[in-house]
Amino acid sequence: MAQAKTWILKKHFEGFPKDSDFELKLEQLSEPKDGEVLLEALFLSVDPYMRPYSRVRMQEGDVMIGTQVAKVIKSNNPSFAVGCHVVGRCGWRTHTVSDGSDLTKISDDWPQDVPLSHAIGAIGMPGLTALYGLEEVCAIKSGETLLVNAAAGAVGSVAGQIAKLKGCKVVGSAGSDNKVAYLKELGFDEAFNYKTVPSLEEALKKASPEGYDCYFENVGGPFSSVAIPQMKAFGRIAVCGGISLYNDTTPQTGPYIHMHMIFKQLKMEGFLVGRWAHKNEESLKRMLTWMQEGKLKCKEHVTVGFENMPAAFMGMLQGENIGKAVVKV
Ligand code: NDP
Repeated sequence: MAQAKTWILKKHFEGFPKDSDFELKLEQLSEPKDGEVLLEALFLSVDPYMRPYSRVRMQEGDVMIGTQVAKVIKSNNPSFAVGCHVVGRCGWRTHTVSDGSDLTKISDDWPQDVPLSHAIGAIGMPGLTALYGLEEVCAIKSGETLLVNAAAGAVGSVAGQIAKLKGCKVVGSAGSDNKVAYLKELGFDEAFNYKTVPSLEEALKKASPEGYDCYFENVGGPFSSVAIPQMKAFGRIAVCGGISLYNDTTPQTGPYIHMHMIFKQLKMEGFLVGRWAHKNEESLKRMLTWMQEGKLKCKEHVTVGFENMPAAFMGMLQGENIGKAVVKV
């Protein structure tokens, strides 16, 4: 019988998460029954959404939510042979018994030279989020100018590169000079450190004096209040995330953006990546091809050891990661 290590949400987060909010627990698993498989986690994802979703989707005592790349080590399900790899919504656990309904098989022709961990990164949910935010929400066109924040992260770095592939000018904002250097390496036209620029407004104006057609919003809060007035007429804003708000204990207030929205006739749309799940197979193939052609690059911030999941999660929320934050078991 396999034993799983799991990380439990011991206490709902109040403000920024802390070590004592998590608890490591052992769980005895039963043998997989007919139709079930036993999985062993290889890479686990730590994502910003876990912070707000913990409030609405989880109770104290639940295993932390999350996806992982796992290997099938026992199988009574013909769709998942022993040795194949899957992306599973298993939560923070080393081993899982699953009936397959929450698993997506990683295709057998996944290229040898692409790390499997990218299936929870650029060639997975974060990559798809970047693609759909640009294509479906912004409907971005060649020649337009894109602003993206948290630009050196999993979603932002892919969004900026896809916009470059589409012939756009790309301006990225990130929280360290190393991140800014990385954005330049990726081909961003302009990049700045939002923590050290004397004036965010001036930095945005300098990077694109004519303004922005599209804004891929990952951060929200005060950044957004300064960025929205910099939009061009008929600009589109894809509201992907608001990470600057996730740990707030009291709601932030204005400045409010209505007058800019009205007079510039802006379109602002929130979205969740799952809306276009029916397109995922084709989209992932497209992004895998870009990666193999060297047009899409992806860094990972790898934390080693399942016992370090909370540290990896909190580190990502604090901006320690360049590229996708993952934990290697
Ligand atoms: P990242 O890899 O970008 O990691 C999070 C980054 O956010 C940090 O590295 C940090 O970078 C930045 N950050 C943290 N706190 C702040 C702050 N107060 N102000 C500004 N930046 C901050 O994460 P993801 O790429 O996975 O996610 C990016 C965004 O996309 C998140 O808002 C997430 O919730 C959202 N998302 C939405 C989805 C959807 O379906 N709508 C799906 C997936 C993600 P820095 O050093 O630059 O500050």
